Amino acid sequence: MSNKRIVLASNNAGKVREINQLLENSGIEVLPQAQFDIEDAIEDGLTFVENAIIKARHAAKLSGLPAIADDSGIEVDALNGAPGIYSARYAGEGSSDEENLRKLLMEIQNIPEEQRSARFQCLMVYMRHAEDPTPIICQGTWEGRILTTPQGENGFGYDPVFFVPEQQCSSAELDAATKNSLSHRGKALQQLVSQLP
Ligand code: IMP
Repeated sequence: MSNKRIVLASNNAGKVREINQLLENSGIEVLPQAQFDIEDAIEDGLTFVENAIIKARHAAKLSGLPAIADDSGIEVDALNGAPGIYSARYAGEGSSDEENLRKLLMEIQNIPEEQRSARFQCLMVYMRHAEDPTPIICQGTWEGRILTTPQGENGFGYDPVFFVPEQQCSSAELDAATKNSLSHRGKALQQLVSQLP
């Protein structure tokens, strides 16, 4: 039987790598939207789930294939949930991972360690086609704390400042397989795969 072909609605190299690892041997062929010259959709939703649907719809429409999209971010309790849905552009439109991470450290520099609780959120959606009225929607959460200085070289985004209590290190110090088994994205994708038609 041939693999099921699905377009992945992301141009974020870190996400594309992790989602590909997670779907290895699943019988699903994941084609990044860059292969179809699809640029990022305008994410003007006010929730993760709205943005995930916007991205999946855009990729499904332009590729003609079913689409998976992930909208994710980090919520810091001491900042009332910021940067949240704005995680990718916290330091401004077009900002790099490094700039966003620096801004986060600056915003919480005076917050004591016991008040630095945070979590990654991932909303993963699957749309059979661009007009799909019943997308499959899955959510994964990963609880942790924000460190005062970056640690580790793996992963992407805020991984170097996200302390993972169960591993006693930052998520940028985890190998890919361990991160995938614990992460918000790994949890959401596992649920999604079990529900795929
Ligand atoms: P999105 O492309 O709008 O979903 O942006 C997600 C942003 O959240 C990324 O650019 C990262 O800054 C952050 N993020 C999401 N997942 C992770 C992760 O697994 N590690 C580190 N940062 C993440």
